[in-house]
Amino acid sequence: MSIETPLANHFIRQLIREDRARGLHNGRVATRFPPEPNGYLHLGHAKSICLNFGMAAENDGVCHLRFDDTNPVKEDLEYIEAIQADVRWLGFDWDRLLHASDYFEVFYLCAEKLIRKGLAYVCDLSADEVREYRGTLTSPGRDSPFRDRSITENLGLFRRMRAGEYADGTRTLRAKIDMASPNINLRDPALYRIRKVPHQNTGDAWCIYPMYDYAHCISDAVEGITHSLCTLEFEDHRPLYDWCLDHLDLVNDASLTAPLRAKGLHMSVSRPQQTEFARGNLDYTVMSKRKLIALVQDAIVDGWDDPRMPTLIGARRRGFPPAAIRNFWERLGYSKQVATIEYSVLEGCVREVLDAQAPRRMGVIDPLRLVITNLPAGHDETLTFANHPKDESFGTREVAFAPVLWIEREDFMEVPVKGFHRLQPGGEVRLRGVGIVRCESLVKDDAGKVVEVRCTLDPDTRAGLPGADRKVKGTIHWVSARHAVAAQVRLYGRLFNVPDPDEDEGGKTYRDHLNPDSKRIVQAWLEASLAQAAPEERFQFERLGYFVADRLDHGDGRVVFNRTVTLRDSYGKQK
Ligand code: ATP
Ligand code: MG
Repeated sequence: MSIETPLANHFIRQLIREDRARGLHNGRVATRFPPEPNGYLHLGHAKSICLNFGMAAENDGVCHLRFDDTNPVKEDLEYIEAIQADVRWLGFDWDRLLHASDYFEVFYLCAEKLIRKGLAYVCDLSADEVREYRGTLTSPGRDSPFRDRSITENLGLFRRMRAGEYADGTRTLRAKIDMASPNINLRDPALYRIRKVPHQNTGDAWCIYPMYDYAHCISDAVEGITHSLCTLEFEDHRPLYDWCLDHLDLVNDASLTAPLRAKGLHMSVSRPQQTEFARGNLDYTVMSKRKLIALVQDAIVDGWDDPRMPTLIGARRRGFPPAAIRNFWERLGYSKQVATIEYSVLEGCVREVLDAQAPRRMGVIDPLRLVITNLPAGHDETLTFANHPKDESFGTREVAFAPVLWIEREDFMEVPVKGFHRLQPGGEVRLRGVGIVRCESLVKDDAGKVVEVRCTLDPDTRAGLPGADRKVKGTIHWVSARHAVAAQVRLYGRLFNVPDPDEDEGGKTYRDHLNPDSKRIVQAWLEASLAQAAPEERFQFERLGYFVADRLDHGDGRVVFNRTVTLRDSYGKQK
């Protein structure tokens, strides 16, 4: 069974094919995934990862993992390592691992070039004044009084900015473009600001730091990126991306990249093209890093890898196969159409992959004792079960069978509702792989709760006998009480109970929409062999859903499984 999805012909795939066909960049394709190392990757990031790595792979190209670390913030090694692990887990590997902060000297030389071309100036307006001069969407901005400084004066001031002679916020370097442009991004945007903060990579070497738009296009160019794929919010920034690169002409000005060659960083410089696509959004969750960090810090979840989190590390712990996430984004395709996708579509992709890949087992998560009274108490038998109903290559396994079993409490009803075809007083049901049992009597505790169902097994209906075909309406699963292994099973639901927890309605925030029943821990009984499952091994527990051995807590004598997803989409009906 193939679980990878056929390729859809989306506009970026088409664009890259056309570019190659007409020999752009000599047919070379280079992409990059540029995360800021300030949080864990989430399912939305996966959309960008799949696109960037996917486009490179199918075009014999390269894809870089570039840490966009131009902001001087405390480096979080945890994030740097987690991002790499998550990209690999998704099934991708980078051709080069790079840091934008390695290009600081290049950014600086580029700024001097713009100044020398009369295209950048040092501005002394305060942040408030800059805002006031910028104008609005409907009114043009006004020129800064510092806009006409001479090149010599600008160069001198910029060098003194670098030398640390001015305080934070007192001066910026700005591009000299057009204060009346209808695109506010072109109204003399800042290229550099002063921040006397040490940088995780460059220490105290710099006290001026480049702005995102300026640094990003140059980073793409010096890495030889051909297709800079980003999300739609950068569409209005594309004219600035192009403006910088056109005026810098890095391809023909080797002096600008000399510092990299001096450091032994050899890359072929390009003139990249930016193309935007719509972000991926999912319902029933939040994906902004700020909110995810808050969920972790306020202990609303059990960490970044909580199986309810939309982070990749959370999806991994939940048991999502990476192929399901890849299929999901590939199928939805890439366009400029902004849409929120139903979480259940992703779960459908998860079920599809697991249906093909997960061996079947039996487990009981809400146990009720069933005793077969017409077998000797010491009866001990081994039954052979297929590991997969549709794929013989999964082989078979032995399952222990004895007269005392656990069945699912919901498979019995003392007073059955109409249409209930499973076990009931006086009724019959098939025990999967065993035969047909009839409920003869019940044992109740002092509170009147049924604690044991006593049954007889029709010996003529045992597997392999002619009577085995006798029809009964229900078949239920079971485990032998004597042989089963006790397990902790974690049942997860959605973290939020509304499709759009971000919707700001009547002063409510996403925190007002948390689902209080999103995690339930039960003690279950499983086929004994599941104690030996490897962490992260995935199974279908028949009739219950797909489960994964917890990657951290399972093992060394502890049996811990997480429910990845139920067998059917029952959201709304179930909790
Ligand atoms: P957030 O808004 O969640 O904090 P971000 O965009 O600031 O995310 P980055 O680390 O800058 O986080 O993201 C790295 C790359 O992933 C960027 O190119 C960004 O466009 C892309 N990306 C982030 N979120 C999504 C999403 N939901 N769908 C597609 N691409 C995304
Ligand atoms: Mg970002």
